[in-house]
Amino acid sequence: MTKLVLVGHDFDINGLRSAILAAAPDLHVCDFGEPGATDAEVAVCWDPPHGALRTLSNLRLVHAIAAGVDNILADPELPRVPLCRVVDPVQARGMAEFVLWGVLHFHRQFDRVLANQRDRRWDMPQQRPASDVTVGVMGLGRIGAHVAATVASIGFRVRGWSRTPKTLSGIETFAGSHTLPSFLDGLDVLVCLLPLTRETEGIVGDVVLRRLPRGAKLIHVGRGEQLVLDALVAALSDGHLGGAIVDVFPHEPLPPHDALWGVPNLIVTPHMASAASLDAIAGQVVENVRRLQRNDSLIHQVDVELGF
Ligand code: NDP
Repeated sequence: MTKLVLVGHDFDINGLRSAILAAAPDLHVCDFGEPGATDAEVAVCWDPPHGALRTLSNLRLVHAIAAGVDNILADPELPRVPLCRVVDPVQARGMAEFVLWGVLHFHRQFDRVLANQRDRRWDMPQQRPASDVTVGVMGLGRIGAHVAATVASIGFRVRGWSRTPKTLSGIETFAGSHTLPSFLDGLDVLVCLLPLTRETEGIVGDVVLRRLPRGAKLIHVGRGEQLVLDALVAALSDGHLGGAIVDVFPHEPLPPHDALWGVPNLIVTPHMASAASLDAIAGQVVENVRRLQRNDSLIHQVDVELGF
């Protein structure tokens, strides 16, 4: 019987255990620290404590419960076994809903309308066609490409930026760091949907923000460490950025005393843009356990060197 161990915190451990057992009653699922857990072959994780996975002597697979694996790769003692991520089309659609809400919020000037309502001011904003507005998506992966296509489908001009060249219908694509300035030039809304890696840490800083035209907006949904918060606050304060929605932070949850909560024109959301469902996570974990049992190739394996 293959044994799985659930490692980490801030996720519904009991719900995930039930979903895995409902999909595969023959598996043995235990919690980290439980007697006998150390000989588990598969670790299913979110933000595992550093060094925890090293104690699993029979480990053959580390499975993330999310799209991003940065918090697993951050473990300096991570065992050299395959690492898989979750790919959930429903999660990609959830992210597209969130980003579309943000784009429409700025495009239809709800920031201004809500401020006007607080002041009891009737002031009808001018309407601009979506086709006059350019949205740029950094990261054209399983989620980013779907977000770009969704935003384009309702008439916005969409650009996408990735590491390697892509051809995506209706989207102007840019690849590689040398194209970043031309990707940014003239954007009305910048969306960051990159994975956190050595290359992307701090990428949305002064240089990127100041390359955007004055009044541009930012929707930051990748990872907190990609956004330089001082540069964000400065760009919002002097009006270079017209508004921002930030969903991810270097330290979560954002504490109540954090000054970011009160920055004008900044909407703080609690890492809620989209999550994979327990059924999708369980289905993929079980599929990979079956593949492991048959010595087949795994699905959605991460390139540990690239970091995503
Ligand atoms: P993927 O791993 O499928 O794709 C990553 C994309 O980023 C690829 O297109 C890749 O380019 C590009 N990329 C990576 N490094 C660079 C670089 N140095 N320069 C330019 N492009 C780069 O990711 P997903 O689309 O599935 O998800 C992206 C991230 O979104 C996750 O890693 C996670 O951090 C975040 N996320 C946030 C959520 C939230 O609720 N806020 C929910 C889900 C995910 P190429 O294809 O050329 O390699």
